[in-house]
Amino acid sequence: MSDGTAESSWLPGLWRGWLLPLTVNLTMPWIALWAWRTERRTLHLGRPLFTSEWAAAVRVGVRHPEKVRVLAVDEIPMPGVVWMHRLAARFGFDRRHVGGMCLRYAILLRRDLAAQPVIMAHELVHTSQFERHGSLAGFLRAYLLQCLREGYANAPLEIEAVMKSQR
Ligand SMILES: [Zn+2]
Repeated sequence: MSDGTAESSWLPGLWRGWLLPLTVNLTMPWIALWAWRTERRTLHLGRPLFTSEWAAAVRVGVRHPEKVRVLAVDEIPMPGVVWMHRLAARFGFDRRHVGGMCLRYAILLRRDLAAQPVIMAHELVHTSQFERHGSLAGFLRAYLLQCLREGYANAPLEIEAVMKSQR
């Protein structure tokens, strides 16, 4: 669908070849721990899906809608410190423009956007992707590699979420 190679030709071959996977592998235990803690906290504090959201979850392929919890927040949390967030913004993850985040069965939605069904459906597609990948770290590794290689908007997992949520 998208030609990721042409899109990201500005990335040096070294980075794409082995430095990127190495960086992702080295940081993954720490990112997965952050994700696991954030998921656990959200599962504790969040609400279950409403009936219409449950139907959307089934439609996009979520196997266990009963496990999902939704929490409205003022700002979507991100791991790391400010310079990392600035770096992430260069790859398309600008937290000021992020409306929601999915960490497996935990869905965090920005309070001012929480009523938008397309954003909820988008995050539910990510829940189904987490289920497919079998673990928090398995999905996060694949997702991060795609985003860092292709850019956020061209990552296949992100394209799938955009397409399925707009049906
Ligand atoms: Zn997404």
